[in-house]
Amino acid sequence: MKAVAITPRQARTAFLVDLPAPSLDEIPEGRGVLVRIIMIGQDGTDKDLYLGQYGAPPPGFDYLVTGHECLGQVTAVGANVRGLAVGDYVVPTVRRPGGSIYDVIGTNDMTSDSTYFERGINLRHGFLTEQFVEDQEFLVKVPGELKDVGVLLEPMSIIEKGIIQAYEIQRRLKVWRPRRAAVIGAGPLGILAALGMVLHGIDVTVFARSEPPTQNSTLLTEIGAHYISTRQTSMADAAGVGGYDIVFEASGSSPQMFEGAGVLAKNGVLILSSITGGSTRTEVGSDRLNLDFVLGNKVMFGTVNAHRGYFEQGVSDFATTMASFPGWLPKLLTHPIDGLDNYAAMFQTLVEVKEAIKVHVIV
Ligand code: BGC
Ligand code: ZN
Repeated sequence: MKAVAITPRQARTAFLVDLPAPSLDEIPEGRGVLVRIIMIGQDGTDKDLYLGQYGAPPPGFDYLVTGHECLGQVTAVGANVRGLAVGDYVVPTVRRPGGSIYDVIGTNDMTSDSTYFERGINLRHGFLTEQFVEDQEFLVKVPGELKDVGVLLEPMSIIEKGIIQAYEIQRRLKVWRPRRAAVIGAGPLGILAALGMVLHGIDVTVFARSEPPTQNSTLLTEIGAHYISTRQTSMADAAGVGGYDIVFEASGSSPQMFEGAGVLAKNGVLILSSITGGSTRTEVGSDRLNLDFVLGNKVMFGTVNAHRGYFEQGVSDFATTMASFPGWLPKLLTHPIDGLDNYAAMFQTLVEVKEAIKVHVIV
């Protein structure tokens, strides 16, 4: 079976490898599900992996099969699989359990272990291949109507987790009703974050550098979000005196967390989701920021990965999106790559084409 691999921590290595085809009996207790892969999405993490900045191979391997955003179709199920049948479309979750109490209760995304296992990223092979076998626990069923956009569910699950956890944290306020939100960054995560909050009836403004109209700014206005270029208007000016009830930082640039903190309303919540593997340093007006957080009862939290509940919320929100904004979600799938053999073109597009929203391989 063909698979696309890289050598982690080395820049720009990519090659095909031959893996044994998976089989149902690799998963104990008849809980295995065999899946034929249809589509794999690529994101900033895949770019970092390719550039040698992130990730690790599984034990016993010197390479890692990448790809963590995937849609597939079930081809066989073990004797004790419930709720999934041959022909169903599925999306796999990414993280696999470690040993902490959070892993034991099925919330691997909240692991407190120092080592984490992520398919296609860290210590586990991913989905840039033809088939995989998995315990049913790690597969989320996708209705046929969503199969063409199902590959976007993994990034959406990250957004769902951020939003759901923000509401969970804000239960401290008893009557919190967010009205205005800012998203920092208009890449795939920023666009999906805007979507998620628009679906909550929140007035969303997305901040990014490029001056509108761009493909991304147009997509955002199509769902009723506002787009502001920070070259034209600063976040502080746009925020005005009240500030934003939610700021969702998804720009990939760590200094933005302080910009975001600076425009948070009283009782507001700042969600941090950027993976920043570099060593950027920045100067901060710490007295002012600290005072505003203290006097304004503000919260800032980090969020990573997602367990199956957040994928399921994504399925529900995508169904709503298809009904409310027909034809919009498929437009995010900007750069198709035909087949695993074209992996070089895939990585090249990922690294070089700035306007690509979602590079994706059709197997
Ligand atoms: C993935 C997450 C993962 C994170 C950190 C992201 O790109 O979507 O599932 O937890 O990278 O490795
Ligand atoms: Zn990702």
